[in-house]
Amino acid sequence: MSLVYQPIIDSQDGRTIGAEALLRWYNGELGSVSPAEFVPVAEDAGLIVEIGDWVLRRACEQVAQWRCTIAPGLIVAVNLSPRQFNEGLLERCFTRSGLEPSALELEITEGLLMSDSETVMPMLTALNEMGVRISVDDFGTGYSSLSYLKRFPLHNLKIDRSFVAGLPDHRDSIAITQAVVAMAHSLGMNVTAEGVETTAQADFLCAIDCDKQQGYFYSRPVGASAYAHSLCDAQMDAADAK
Ligand code: C2E
Ligand code: MG
Ligand code: MG
Repeated sequence: MSLVYQPIIDSQDGRTIGAEALLRWYNGELGSVSPAEFVPVAEDAGLIVEIGDWVLRRACEQVAQWRCTIAPGLIVAVNLSPRQFNEGLLERCFTRSGLEPSALELEITEGLLMSDSETVMPMLTALNEMGVRISVDDFGTGYSSLSYLKRFPLHNLKIDRSFVAGLPDHRDSIAITQAVVAMAHSLGMNVTAEGVETTAQADFLCAIDCDKQQGYFYSRPVGASAYAHSLCDAQMDAADAK
């Protein structure tokens, strides 16, 4: 297993402000298997806790190192499986890696928020008090109940790429993305658009004040050394511009 990193871009100035860590599994017989296929299997087999702990540790260590050497303000987004929700693990992770909790954004699904508020609520409250940011992944594709948005301490909504794909031409996609941005901002949250593939999509999202963007238009997910190189190049370009 290994991790790849996809840049997260600030819509306003085009700078890379962080990375989403995404899991990769290479199997000798099957070749490269997508996490969309093997994560559900790992969940059913009871392996996701161990795998997810490794992802979290590896991503925190890697980004703590980049923050020390290349980009002090960098943040990392890590996908969390519902079964993996464990605050003790996070504390150990911060102690070992030296990463500040405010540099971590945990991506959770709407399903987790809807599942069991008696255990989820204290956990989210504890994470919030630690300074960890919570982001709702694939927003708009899970459940239609919006009540969890006011119940839980959430910081960011990630607009699912199925909505971004229809921009800037489809009326429904325009209406949904604009409404999500307006709703998130009035609730004090940020918005990330995922799956941005074209200049027209990027420009549209910038115009409607979507805070952050991710997608092949900026970069595919890449290995740690390629990501570090792109950070160094961006730093040099910024220094040249001064
Ligand atoms: P996700 O968290 O919504 O991740 C975004 C997925 O969209 C990634 O697929 C990414 O490679 C892909 N993507 C990014 N930009 C574009 C684009 O412009 N166009 C298109 N068509 N696709 C784009 P990936 O890496 O295959 O991951 C799939 C899903 O697997 C993730 O969806 C996430 O739910 C899950 N996953 C990945 N890594 C982990 C992990 O470490 N732990 C857990 N629990 N789940 C993970
Ligand atoms: Mg994600
Ligand atoms: Mg997503």
